[in-house]
Amino acid sequence: MKDWKACAAKLYDGGLRPMFIDGEWCPARSGEVIEARNPADGTLLATVPKGGAADIDAAVAAARRAFEGPWSRFTPFERQALLLRIAERFEAEWETLCLSDTLDMGMPLQRTLANSRRVLGMLRYYAGQAVAIHGQTIPNSFPGEIYSSTVREPVGVVGAIIPWNAPIAGSIWKIGPALATGCTVVLKPSEEASLTVLMIARIMQEAGLPDGVLNIVTGLGADAGAALAAHPGVDKVVFTGSTATGQSIARAATGNLKRVSLELGGKSPVIVCRDADIDKAVPVAAMAVFANSGQVCIAGSRLFVAREIHDEFVRRVAEFAANLRIGHGIDETTEIGPIISARQADRVAGYLTAGPAEGARVLTGGGRAKGANLDNGHFIQPTVFGGVTDQMSIAREEIFGPVVSALPFDTIDEVVERANATPYGLAAGVFSTHLGTAHKLAHRLKAGSVWVNMYHAIDPAVPFGGMKMSGYGREGGIEQLEGYLDTKAIWINAD
Ligand code: NAD
Repeated sequence: MKDWKACAAKLYDGGLRPMFIDGEWCPARSGEVIEARNPADGTLLATVPKGGAADIDAAVAAARRAFEGPWSRFTPFERQALLLRIAERFEAEWETLCLSDTLDMGMPLQRTLANSRRVLGMLRYYAGQAVAIHGQTIPNSFPGEIYSSTVREPVGVVGAIIPWNAPIAGSIWKIGPALATGCTVVLKPSEEASLTVLMIARIMQEAGLPDGVLNIVTGLGADAGAALAAHPGVDKVVFTGSTATGQSIARAATGNLKRVSLELGGKSPVIVCRDADIDKAVPVAAMAVFANSGQVCIAGSRLFVAREIHDEFVRRVAEFAANLRIGHGIDETTEIGPIISARQADRVAGYLTAGPAEGARVLTGGGRAKGANLDNGHFIQPTVFGGVTDQMSIAREEIFGPVVSALPFDTIDEVVERANATPYGLAAGVFSTHLGTAHKLAHRLKAGSVWVNMYHAIDPAVPFGGMKMSGYGREGGIEQLEGYLDTKAIWINAD
């Protein structure tokens, strides 16, 4: 097994990691910094610039110059070649990227390492799309006299804002379609996890990305993020994060009527029917919520189980949860890493208190994880609550931690109604061996993705996104590319 600790010691030394504007690596204009600490043990990894409105101005100006300058003359084939070169460099540096993510935001290495196929697939999918964008010739009311056609043009400068929970996939999901369509980007990573995104910019620069096409401004949301969302020089904002922040971004974008797409929160139902294959469903339903310590927008945090099998199924999910290995993500055997920050761990712990106070029973977990190796980090035990009602806060609110509420149900109509009774509509899981039941549920659930007898599948070619207050717009698939393009109609009088 690789000596990851030795590799980690060489990666970050506590020093400043500058941000990236117009091809230059620079500090914040204010000179201020944010500390990047390892959530597993609190060690200082590095500092990053605390960028603000002036830095956003400089980055947007650089992105505009690049959009109107040399980047606009790149042919689709050149953009494709660049994306393929980036994918190659990603593949070569994949382990370092994963290690950085694990140190900076805690995601277990076994999970990040396993994600490579998906992330490399994204880059290669966008490379393919770069040469497949085209308009149409459209018949009109004046045949032979007037010709009408459409061309697809890049929308312009894209402002991208991402959360902490998946820095690699989260940033590629924004930068990839921009490069495929010919847009330029100013990206603000989360203040909780910026280091890997800076590494991604370095890799892209080395692969030949022209100056100004991608700019990374590190900083706080209320500061750099708000400035980017409101900036009149930005043509489109793509945002992933909480619903409350998404609402404020949508408001800020009205100034110059930016296009907006929002990937927001969720309270996703997982429905286990009485005819489910229980042996297969238990681990998948458990990891639907516990993967990445529950810090996943699609976390299946409401576990609806048919009453006939409820007690047995939930007992087995609780047993599975109790056996998950909690630890530092750098240990390749770790299944549950830390929560990103003390503040977020306190928030999750608040639900561990609220659940029993509202009448729920702890079936496993229910507290902070302790142990010699855990005490300096922010660890929460995987927790299963029983005796939950739909009205309890643990069953209604997004917890963004390793906490699931088990809820029995009697009929399909009833479970559809209860599963849909949430402001969110991001994802849902169904476990059934009956084709008709699975189909019925998949069609009636109000969610952007429904997985049957599986969970978590995300692919670059398949659209992903939310309904209701989980947002609008899609990532992945042709739908995503559409969001980075404008359509122009061209009329030609042949008389
Ligand atoms: P958050 O909304 O607090 O922050 C997300 C990003 O927005 C960060 O970069 C932050 O700095 C920035 N930000 C904060 N306030 C801002 C403002 N006023 N203007 C502009 N930018 C601002 O979310 P978080 O706590 O980092 O992430 C957790 C949330 O993200 C959860 O609700 C989760 O469900 C959601 N999420 C959704 C998806 C998805 O694809 N739907 C994926 C991951 C996370």
